Amino acid sequence: MNSSKNPIYDYFNRPLRDLRISVTDKCNFRCTYCMPAEIFGPDYPFLKRKELLSYEEIERLAKIFVSSLGVQKIRITGGEPLMRKDLPSLIRKLNEIEGVEDIAMTTNGSLLPKYAKELRAAGLNRVSISLDSLQDEVFGKINGRGVTVQTVIDGIDAAAEAGLKVKINMVVKRGMNDHEIVPMAKFFREKGHILRFIEFMDVGNTNKWNLKDVYSKKEIIEDIHKIMPLEPIEPNYTGEVATRYRYQGANDEIGVISSVSDAFCSTCNRARLSANGMLYTCLFASKGHDLREPIRSDLSNDELTELLENIWFKRDDKYSLERSETSATRKKIEMSHIGG
Ligand code: SAM
Ligand code: SF4
Ligand code: SF4
Repeated sequence: MNSSKNPIYDYFNRPLRDLRISVTDKCNFRCTYCMPAEIFGPDYPFLKRKELLSYEEIERLAKIFVSSLGVQKIRITGGEPLMRKDLPSLIRKLNEIEGVEDIAMTTNGSLLPKYAKELRAAGLNRVSISLDSLQDEVFGKINGRGVTVQTVIDGIDAAAEAGLKVKINMVVKRGMNDHEIVPMAKFFREKGHILRFIEFMDVGNTNKWNLKDVYSKKEIIEDIHKIMPLEPIEPNYTGEVATRYRYQGANDEIGVISSVSDAFCSTCNRARLSANGMLYTCLFASKGHDLREPIRSDLSNDELTELLENIWFKRDDKYSLERSETSATRKKIEMSHIGG
């Protein structure tokens, strides 16, 4: 058993460094590319309270991941993580774990005006806030709930004022919002936040993904470069998912997450824990490993460590390197279950 803080390595020699924890599968938005309203309607069987891992259970697992498997970073996600009651108390527990270097959260931003200060005080360092458009008409359609752009901007401002480091995520889908790449780049350059463009991905089976709808990294960079010339820059660390570019002659930057056109599986060091305690070793996994049953039985921490090590040792995922027309239709876990 690996009892040090050294990472463990999978079948392709990739360490485990980054744990993403989804705390709920519910959301107050219905983004068309993630939780289309016609499928995630009033009768959709969302997880019941007793099915969710409790904060104590999440804390116990996180401690093992950090102390025995080499995890250094934790990201909280959802669904919309701020829909889960008293999230700051979970952040506080995670922040007390020795060895955690960074706690981040991905959010749609709508509830940040209410919670940003409390989250920062609890030990949250960074937030990635999702915003796909600067036009209410376009954004309201994308989020499926008519939420205004200003609602998210208020969340962004509240996070920055609370002292959280802020990045913005924009999913780009051809014909949906590719015309807003340059306006978004200009807006967030002026505002002083790093904007990251995300290629539309074939996560889950409900978002009608089609390769033709993917607006590629190359196209995104070309669009911006024509107006504001860019140059590539080195990654901050091995395994960084976004390719970084700097505006020429300046210090500000953007990033592109190109899971479809330029896969980064060879450095993928992430594991994902769903709200009901399933561990997924790939965003595009068809099945996960149940940790809720073992954690609710009498398993000791050593036995749990061994179980987790065995899952990671056997991990041979490289979905994005092997993506094909047929793999896109294979049964896969939904984004709202594992949180991106
Ligand atoms: N609700 C939060 C939010 O929207 O930021 C957290 C969960 S959401 C599933 C995490 C990230 O995944 C968001 O930035 C979202 O835009 C992105 N996302 C969801 N579905 C996607 C898809 N099909 N392709 C690319 N990114 C996607
Ligand atoms: Fe909700 Fe985030 Fe999915 Fe949009 S992307 S539906 S905000 S979980
Ligand atoms: Fe990691 Fe799977 Fe994405 Fe490849 S496809 S980068 S293995 S999550």
